[in-house]
Amino acid sequence: MIVRGDLVCAAVSGGKDSLSLLHVLKKMSESHNFRLKAITIDEGIPGYREEALKIVSDFCTKLGVEYKVFQYKELFDLTLEESLEVRANEKISSCSICGTLRRRAMDYGAKEIGADVIATGHNLDDTLQTFIINTLSGDYNKIGWMYPQALTATPRKIKPFCEIYENEIVFYAFTNGIPFQSEPCPHMSEGIRTEIRDFLNNLENNHSGVKNSMNRSIYKISQIIKNSDYKQKRICLTCGNECTGEICSVCGLLLKLKQKKSQMCK
Ligand code: SF4
Repeated sequence: MIVRGDLVCAAVSGGKDSLSLLHVLKKMSESHNFRLKAITIDEGIPGYREEALKIVSDFCTKLGVEYKVFQYKELFDLTLEESLEVRANEKISSCSICGTLRRRAMDYGAKEIGADVIATGHNLDDTLQTFIINTLSGDYNKIGWMYPQALTATPRKIKPFCEIYENEIVFYAFTNGIPFQSEPCPHMSEGIRTEIRDFLNNLENNHSGVKNSMNRSIYKISQIIKNSDYKQKRICLTCGNECTGEICSVCGLLLKLKQKKSQMCK
């Protein structure tokens, strides 16, 4: 995942996964030939993100890792809370807006600090949950997007914990004294992810190893869908990023939100 000489940008939220990842990468960077910096995306969720920012800042200082915060408000002129107030309807979930904007914010942050690679703390459980969410929504193209990126992408996106169970990361964080935010995001239980997480944990408790087997299947299925559903890449007319339509999903989303906001201001 990491190539000699890379500048790795760890995207750190303040949760157990990303802080454990930062801890592991920091140790590895001392014996392997790559550099490490960290970024945090501040969505603008009142009463939630402030604690995480403090935890990340203190932990980066302790590890001696350079660290920078990028805010939705500065990048998109909208906080997440403002976006939720002007979304077209409640069916557009907080997490789908937040996730779309976060991917762009991370790309921006990684480019800004000159990184070759963005490393996120997504674990095996996250992959399984996302696969089921995409399956249930009928959006099979997104399953193809789950296949790991080619080495030629810039910046490359890697998930070093993609084969690690969530509970193993919790264990790593506790045994290494890694501080992390325990307070969940106030929007966390709005979507279906928590129910799927409980369902998969029950299955794993009763049938040890099913998560690993499912993860192997997802790897193959995503590869097949990616190869069979190839769409010619185009350049977004608004921002110049790669996309498959005339404008990318981020610009499309921002356009709708800002139109709604200006209508509401009149
Ligand atoms: S739970 Fe949803 S809204 Fe909250 S930070 Fe995560 S993606 Fe954003």
